[in-house]
Amino acid sequence: MTVLDAHCDAPSQMVRLRDYGVDNAMAQVDFPKMVRGGVDASFFAAYVPASLTGQAATDWARRLLDEADRQVAACAGSVAYARCAGGVARNRRAGLTSVLLGIENASALQESFDLLREFHRRGVRYVTLTHSADNQVGDSCTGKGTWGGLSPFGKRLVPEMNRRRMLIDVAHSADATIRDVLELSEVPIAYTHGGCRALASHRRNLPDELIRGIAERGGVVCISIYPPFLDDGFVKTLAESGLEEKMGVEDAFIKDPADPAKRAAWEAVQRELQALPRPGIDRVVDHIEHAVSVAGIEHVGIGTDYDGIEVTVEGLEDISRFSRLWDVMRSRGFSQRDIARIAGDNFLRVLKAVRKGVNKNVNG
Ligand SMILES: [Zn+2]
Repeated sequence: MTVLDAHCDAPSQMVRLRDYGVDNAMAQVDFPKMVRGGVDASFFAAYVPASLTGQAATDWARRLLDEADRQVAACAGSVAYARCAGGVARNRRAGLTSVLLGIENASALQESFDLLREFHRRGVRYVTLTHSADNQVGDSCTGKGTWGGLSPFGKRLVPEMNRRRMLIDVAHSADATIRDVLELSEVPIAYTHGGCRALASHRRNLPDELIRGIAERGGVVCISIYPPFLDDGFVKTLAESGLEEKMGVEDAFIKDPADPAKRAAWEAVQRELQALPRPGIDRVVDHIEHAVSVAGIEHVGIGTDYDGIEVTVEGLEDISRFSRLWDVMRSRGFSQRDIARIAGDNFLRVLKAVRKGVNKNVNG
């Protein structure tokens, strides 16, 4: 089977001086770990913080993509970019791990279709419309409801992304924004990382109505491995641990990644987080099972959010352990065929559909 991780934040760690060509201690993702975990392809998302807007947002996305280009080129013997599902298959046959590019937060586009074209030309294949705050495209699920869904620009951007054959990612979008996108998009869309609100109340998670809506239009809903999305009990554990107040060490580390003391302080908090009682792989499978029960087996995938999360479920601490997820799914009664669909086939089908520009009402 072809294993595809629909979302990780690797470029953010690359600019924090992590060399993806070597097996790093304390890292959730690097190329050797991807190989050990049996991962054929991964979307590396250039994450643009909500604090950046306008030209600063565009420049940050460019910087992250430049660094991804550099590190992929430096490992050309084992890793290569893929721009489409066919590229993933070709790389796989050649024994290469595929990296695909996304941008997380459409703030990088400002209000410019020229920038959309620039990013598409350099290989970006999905854009996550929002991050943690409302932006010029629309409302975030953790924003203030500025627009009541998509903004006027967002309503023009959706058909332009369809035309440009760029996949729309609605992770982080407000429910009203997702409803607007489902109304306007002529091709299937993705929700690349999150969980099911029926099982855990986090606002980032999808209600059944939207899981169904994305599936009915041929799209894919990808489950993350981030405990606060999966389990309300862990949200309480984290709040009571006092560790959230210590997360500031990460900002200090991001600003000065070459400083060993700042790196060590960040790593110490990571270790404390790992020591908390955390939900296990079974909880990820609970969300997969629920999404399958609502969406159908052809509309669910995996988007870990590695390198963008400070803590993972127990057992999936880094991507080298990824195959444990398939083991647990097998033990819960998933067939090999169904595991293959969730592991990658469903997302690859959506990429193909967006590339072809198929009608949104055609399933499969
Ligand atoms: Zn995210």
